[in-house]
This record gives sequence, structure tokens and C-alpha cells, in this order.
Amino acid sequence: MFNDRIKIKQLLSGTPTGTEVVVMGWVRTFRNNQFIALNDGSTNANIQIVATLGEFDEAILKRVTTGASLKIVGTVVESLGKGQSVEVKAKTLEILGDSDAEKFPLQPKKHSLEFLREKAHLRFRTNTFGSVFRLRHALAFAVHQFYNERGFVYLHTPIITSSDAEGAGEMFKVTTLPLEGAPKNDKGEIDYTQDFFGKGTNLTVSGQLEGELGAMAFSEIYTFGPTFRAENSNTTRHLAEFWMIEPEMAFYDIEDNMNLAEAFIKYLINYALKNNAEDIDFLDARLAEEEKQLPTEKRSGLGLREKLELVVNNNFERITYTEAIDILLNSNHYKKKKFQYEVKWGIDLQSEHERYLVEQHFKKPVIVTGYPAAIKAFYMRMNDGCEPGKETVAAMDILAPGIGEIVGGSQREERLDKLEARMKAMHIPLEDMSWYLDTRRFGTVPHAGFGLGFERMIQFVTGMTNIRDVIPFARTPKNCEY
Ligand code: ATP
Ligand code: MN
Repeated sequence: MFNDRIKIKQLLSGTPTGTEVVVMGWVRTFRNNQFIALNDGSTNANIQIVATLGEFDEAILKRVTTGASLKIVGTVVESLGKGQSVEVKAKTLEILGDSDAEKFPLQPKKHSLEFLREKAHLRFRTNTFGSVFRLRHALAFAVHQFYNERGFVYLHTPIITSSDAEGAGEMFKVTTLPLEGAPKNDKGEIDYTQDFFGKGTNLTVSGQLEGELGAMAFSEIYTFGPTFRAENSNTTRHLAEFWMIEPEMAFYDIEDNMNLAEAFIKYLINYALKNNAEDIDFLDARLAEEEKQLPTEKRSGLGLREKLELVVNNNFERITYTEAIDILLNSNHYKKKKFQYEVKWGIDLQSEHERYLVEQHFKKPVIVTGYPAAIKAFYMRMNDGCEPGKETVAAMDILAPGIGEIVGGSQREERLDKLEARMKAMHIPLEDMSWYLDTRRFGTVPHAGFGLGFERMIQFVTGMTNIRDVIPFARTPKNCEY
């Protein structure tokens, strides 16, 4: 058997001294021709391997370079060095794979995140990305655990879709038609009846509409999958391919929806704090180091762990859109003309407005409800009793410090007549959406749901400021490596 190894995390968590172990991993550093720091990705902590001077062939030791992979058989002994309780005294040392020290891009020193983004295929082997992606894994697991505990059904909504009425963003077309000489119909348009699916298809921007179909049978479902938006937004919080969790619940109103979303976010943070303390602490220290480089007024003053604990231990602020506009209009920031975009009832809140509300005004996550109908999607439930011209819908966005919008959701319009009227007004062809309208024709119920951007959640938990650093292989405008 080749793989009878012990993982370094387990080894460091208290394997008794005197035990013989097999350890495998990649060399982080090699000091004094004697001390190897070995890492296998199970933790940021390295195991120190001691290759006692004179006991190993010089030719082998020369090949112990940063990045090389090793198999060590040795004995666990108490460590005299600081920083670790045990180390492994090597009996045999086998090079599994060489790594040319001249060419290996990761040196045993601090690299910038920008540099590592260019070397995304190797960045998993750094402490920062080790922590980030172990946390990403843990949060994905916690997502399933949260919904499973509550009896939600995990529904796989399609990635290729013919529904283009969601309006959440620009879509990527899916076609097998040739780019040049594509067949045309008599109107001179591309004839998608000749395409693979016999109609125009796209990559999904959201699984919500299909999710609603599931909720009308299982009561509560969630999706968790990749979504695609061909929006040309080169920001630190937008990806062209990102993962979204979208629960959809029958017999929920907007308040039930907010309660679930708040509980969900807190659950994920608690899960990470409890199960990934080491990685959180590593990122906390990393962030503190980074903050020191900032001018005082730009420092947040709160450590990562403190920030996360503050969020789980306090209620989110809940305000209406109208109240949000009033807060903005009454702010000194506004009076000093510091907002770039106009503030008045009816605008779509810009990220500078969202950030002001959460970072300056409330200093905690905020749930904004009751947005103007005119800026929101067709399926959101029209609020009753609105002043003419000031119609609002039962929408809710959750805004998080440092991130902006992390959740977008709503109570859905379950009344067929109102939904059809809204769709007509928005020029959405009813015939194409007949399958969706069936949910309102046959046993419609009050229902609600939301979408949580998984990468934005990871940004929040890890404190990483650029979304490109929380997904293994980022897809952004003009960038699709690997
Ligand atoms: P934004 O205004 O930030 O572009 P949105 O209003 O387009 O967001 P929704 O359509 O409501 O967002 O999508 C639900 C959630 O998905 C958002 O709250 C956010 O967390 C996430 N999200 C949206 N677009 C992106 C993107 N391009 N990259 C990563 N996450 C995204
Ligand atoms: Mn968007």
C-alpha cells in the first residue's frame, strides 16, 4: 500500500511520541540542510521533518527544494524548536517529485495577491489561499447542513436554460450554430430552430424560477450551483461565473424570508468560527498586518474574528427603502456632496449608498425592504395600499459591511392577475412563461425566496477584498485562464 500516511493536521493534533508515521507533502522550506517544513494542505501548520546531519545522501538532500514533494517515514518526537510540539525524525526520505528551485514561482516569502492571481494554479500552496479554500469548502458543507437540518430539498435547477425572462443580468448564449454563415429565418434573424435545442438557449443567471416550481411541491427547496452573468462589471465583487444558493419556500411571507436569510448567514459564520478557527485566526492576523499599511482613517478598527462575532451576536438592522433614502438625504455625506450618484426616491441604490448605510450609519448588516416596483423584477409581490406613482414591492436586499449586497430576495407575486398585469407592462411574453404561470393557476400559495452570492459570503468570512481571490479559477471580463 502506498498511501498509509497520516495527515499533518492529525499528526500535529497530538500523535504520541515514539509512533512511526508516514508523512507526505510539499516542501515549504529547508533550513540548515537539516530541517524541512512540510505541508500537505490539511492545515497551514507545517510539520518539521528532521533529517539528521550525516544520515542522508547529499544527492537526495540537494533535491529537497521548495515545492518538491516528499514521502517520509519517521518517528514522532517531541520538538525542541519553538512553534510546534512534535516533529518527525526521518528514517527514510523519498523524493516523489522534484521542483526546480530556479523555476518554481512561489518563494518562501510573502507574495502579493495580484502576483498570486497570475499564478492561480499554484496559489493553493500558499497559507492565505490554503485558508481561503478550506473555508470555502467548510461553508459549502455548512450550506447543505443548514438546509438539510430544516428539511429543505436540494433541487438541481438547469445550467442551460431557455428561459430568458429573469432579467437578472446579461446572459451568455449557448449555441452550436456556426458563428459565420449561421442559418437565418425570413426576417433575417438567426434561425435557432436549427440550433441544438431547436430554440435559443443561455447559461442560467439564476435558478429561482425553476426553484419556485419545486417549492410548489416540496414546500421548501434550495439550489446551490453556478450561475453566469455576462455583465461587463470589472469590480471587486462581480464575477462572470459565480455560485449562488437560492432557497425558495412556500407558505413564507417577506418577514419569514428575512428571518431565514438572517439565520442562514449567522449559521454559516458560526460554523466557520467553530470548525475553522485556525484558518480564521490566520486570516485575521493577515488582515491586521494589511491594515497597518493603511492610513488610520481607512482602518476598520475591528479584527476579522471580532467583526464576525459582532455579526452573529446582533440582530441585523431592518429598514425600508424609503427610510434608507431619508437616512442618505439627511446625512452629512450627502450635504457635503460626497455621493457621486443622485439620491432621491426611485433610484436604484448604488454601492456607495449601500456602503454608507452599513459602514458609516449602522455599522452592521442591514436588510432593506420595500423597493420601488419600477427597479425590481416582475415576479416580486406588489405591496398593497401604495400611493400611486410610489408602488413598492416586497423585495429585500441584505447589505453587509465591506461587501455591499450579499443577498437579494423577495416575496413572490402569487396572485395570477397581478402577475400577468405586471408581465404585460414589462413586455414579458406570457406564452413563453406558461409553465411558470401554472404555479399560480394550480394551487398558488404565498411564497418567498432569496439568492445568496456564495463568493460574497466567503469574502465576508475571510475578509478577502477581491472576489477573484475566493473562487479557485475566476472568470471575469477578458480573463478565462485554465
Ligand atoms: P449587484 O447589484 O451587486 O450586481 P444583483 O442585484 O445583480 O447584485 P441578484 O440578481 O439579486 O444581484 O443576485 C443575488 C446575489 O448574487 C447578490 O446578492 C450577490 O450576492 C450575488 N451576485 C450577483 N451578481 C454577482 C456577480 N456578478 N458575481 C458574484 N456574485 C454576484
Ligand atoms: Mn448585478
